[in-house]
Order: sequence, then C-alpha cells, then structure tokens
Amino acid sequence: MKIKFWGVRGSIPCPGPLTTKYGGNTVCLELRFKASDRLIIIDAGSGIRELGNYMMAHDLQKGPIRAEIYLTHTHWDHIMGFLFFTPIYIPGTKIKIYAPVHYEDEPLEHVMGGQLAYRYFPVRHAELASEIKYFDLKEGRFDLGDGITLATKYLNHPVLSLGYRFEYKGKVFCTAYDTEPFQNLFCTDPDDPSYDEVMANEGEQAAKEANDRLEAFFSGADLLIHDTQYTREEYISSKVGWGHSSFEHVIAAAKRTGVKRLALFHHEPVRTDAQMDELTMKYCNPDYAGDTEVFFAKEGMEIEL
Ligand SMILES: [Zn+2]
Ligand SMILES: [Zn+2]
Repeated sequence: MKIKFWGVRGSIPCPGPLTTKYGGNTVCLELRFKASDRLIIIDAGSGIRELGNYMMAHDLQKGPIRAEIYLTHTHWDHIMGFLFFTPIYIPGTKIKIYAPVHYEDEPLEHVMGGQLAYRYFPVRHAELASEIKYFDLKEGRFDLGDGITLATKYLNHPVLSLGYRFEYKGKVFCTAYDTEPFQNLFCTDPDDPSYDEVMANEGEQAAKEANDRLEAFFSGADLLIHDTQYTREEYISSKVGWGHSSFEHVIAAAKRTGVKRLALFHHEPVRTDAQMDELTMKYCNPDYAGDTEVFFAKEGMEIEL
C-alpha cells in the first residue's frame, strides 16, 4: 500500500507563509495498491483539489478515471474540496462515495449534493459529467476485492464518524479521526444532586470498554493516522466534547497497542510551522514515544507499507 497526504489540517484551510512546511489544506489521503490499479481516496477536504489535478495529468492518460472515496464523516472540512475535484466534470469518470450517514432519512446523496445549490455553488448535480454513486457505510468488515479488506469502526465525534482499517498483503493501515476519547456520560461528582453511584460506575465501565474497542481496532497497525488536534492542556481547558484528541492520549494508546508508525494528523489550523517543529521535539522521539515512530503528517508526504 502507498499512502499520500494531500491535506492534513482540521476545521478550515490555513494557507500562508506560516504553514508552508506542514501544509494548509484540510484532510485528504490517497491510497494505492501495488498489484492493483484501484484508487481509494479518504476524505474530500480542500487537499482533494490538488489530488484531482494530479489525476488529470497522470491517471487520465491511462483511461477513464475510477475512484472510490471513503468519507470518514460529512463535516465541512472533510467534503469542502469535492466540487473542486476536476475528475467529476470529465465524461467517463466513475466515482463511488462511501460514508456513514447520521440521519437515516437524510441520504448521503442529499448531504453531499446539498452543496450543489445555486446559493452555494454555480453548478448543479445534474450538470456533473461523471457518474457518481453514493453508498451508506456502517460499522463492519468488508472484502473490497483485489486482496483488500476494510474494517470500519464508529468513533466518538458529534456526528457519526468512521475509522478505517485497510489490510493488504499482510500490512495494516488505520485511520482514527475525527475522534476524542469516550467519556463517562453520567455525573461523577458525589456532591452533585444528580449523582447516582451505580450509573456513575456503569458509565465509567462503558467508556473504558469503548476506548478499549477502539484501541483493539488499530492495535499493531503498520501505520495509524490519528486525530491529534490538541495538546492535553488545550483539550482539558476548553475542548472537551468537540470531538478531537490530544497528543498525550494518542501517543500513549499507540505505544500500548504496538502501533509501528503513528502520523499525528488533523492539525489545529492556528498551529504554525514553528510551533509544530517545537511539538516535534517534544513528542516525536523514542524517549517520549518508545518503539512507536511518531511524526507530524505533512502535505505531500508519501508512505509505503
Ligand atoms: Zn475534521
Ligand atoms: Zn469532524
């Protein structure tokens, strides 16, 4: 498998002189396979625009474009680049889009197609020259053919969000973003009038089990790309419940579960190159991360497994 980062930021693109080293586009990953011409794209943030340009220059010469897009979820930063993905305007292109759907009565086609209204964009869905098919995706395990298997796992985010685990030729590549640690949903303060000891203990157990299940999902991965939008300090002070994780939590989980390589990902948009270099010194070394190789994902970076 070969994975390439086309967008690494969360929330909103942040181009400019302070982000040239790590990149300013929102999330998009390209996944290719050695013995197959399958092309899988994960998320359609603003980074997919450059990927589309690359495909127009390189893939189109070999024949009509075929791609599968797996969206982790449909938050704006994960779909905002789709209408600037040039292959969708080329006759003969066939795209399959898979994503979890939060509300069963609101199909994926409407969620994605909702961007194609004149009040947002000058082109309508019917005017796209390509064939686009939509598929709702749930938690499960799927044989994608060509020796590729995919397992999916619900994460902890304000809308349904899926983690992906691809296995190919004995190698494992996982994504787990956008997500934050599962929390006890019941009151844990004995002085609070709503406190109930049984409920509090059950909530604690449920959160632990949910976190254990996610760790088992990415356990032993050759590459894990995980949400690390915040430092622990930032997370605790004001970001609990926003659906993102801290470096400290994620690196500890990766170490515990024998993840070989961990890409810190879904970077906070206000984080500058200089600040990320500083965080690299702190987190990306064996003293802190043990046997897990930890690094900040950068736009343009390629990893072969
Ligand atoms: Zn996001
Ligand atoms: Zn999100």
